[in-house]
Amino acid sequence: DLLVTGASGHLGRAVLNHLIGTLGVPAARIIATSRKPEDLGEWASRGVTVRKADYDDPATLSAAFSGVKRLVLISTDALDEPGKRLRQHKAAIEAADKAGVQHIVYTSLPDAETSAVSFAPDHAGTEAAIKASAIAGHTLLRNSWYSENVLHALPHALETGKWFTAAGKGGTSYIARDDLALAAATALAADFSGKRTLSLYGAKPWTVDEVAELARKATGKPLEVVQVSVDDLVRGMTGAGLPEPVARVFASFDAAAAAGNLAGSDTEFRALTGREPQSFEEWFTRNAVPVL
Ligand code: NDP
Repeated sequence: DLLVTGASGHLGRAVLNHLIGTLGVPAARIIATSRKPEDLGEWASRGVTVRKADYDDPATLSAAFSGVKRLVLISTDALDEPGKRLRQHKAAIEAADKAGVQHIVYTSLPDAETSAVSFAPDHAGTEAAIKASAIAGHTLLRNSWYSENVLHALPHALETGKWFTAAGKGGTSYIARDDLALAAATALAADFSGKRTLSLYGAKPWTVDEVAELARKATGKPLEVVQVSVDDLVRGMTGAGLPEPVARVFASFDAAAAAGNLAGSDTEFRALTGREPQSFEEWFTRNAVPVL
């Protein structure tokens, strides 16, 4: 009766691991869906029911969601064509509604209605569609930036010795993806039946200067933070070969950090899970340093 969509993705896999391993939910209660159910053989062999669900193919969704009481809707790829993601999520919400799902957990982003992140309207639109549906309850998890995201910019910055950013003194409260998976698993398995929106951040915001300092200390390599405007950042990225629409998406992350959209505390994470999130510094030492 508990369903995890997108179960072959990084977050989906970790949600299943936490449901079974951390929270002790019997595998027989869990349904895992994916566009590629054939990739979920390991879960099937552990007793999880595996079904196909593709938000682009609504015909798969009614069978996939049948008999489900609570469901985690994992958001799809933000870099896909504009508008597609909201369409996909709306198809999933409509199918969940028709199937009689009672509670939906959704992976959103902080300040969904006002964030400078370019694809924030996808999340705000999905949240609105959930609220407008007849599904009785929801938990909207406004997930802050994964700690893992620092590995997008840092390797190149360390190679060149310069980290170009438009984030200024704005901080990002990074949180390990695995902690967000624990939060989603907890919300799915909980008996909470009302409506709530929780913003899930790591313990504290980190500025680019502070992350650069961690990286310098850990690697011994020089790294200068160079503050530029959002437009200059986009020009730099397109100059390095990135398509402009993609560069605009990435640059919007810095604009969001500068605006304070990604900074917060771990209060709601702790209230939901009863645990502390992994500290970013520890995460960095354990996971980033070996690959930098
Ligand atoms: P992955 O790229 O590993 O996973 C992508 C997910 O999207 C998979 O679960 C995949 O399911 C699902 N998906 C894609 N297309 C469809 C579709 N048509 N129908 C159903 N499911 C689909 O990302 P992560 O697991 O790391 O992250 C999960 C989501 O969180 C991302 O998709 C993105 O929206 C968001 N995100 C948030 C970040 C943050 O910093 N807060 C950073 C990166 C992503 P499957 O392949 O099993 O069908």
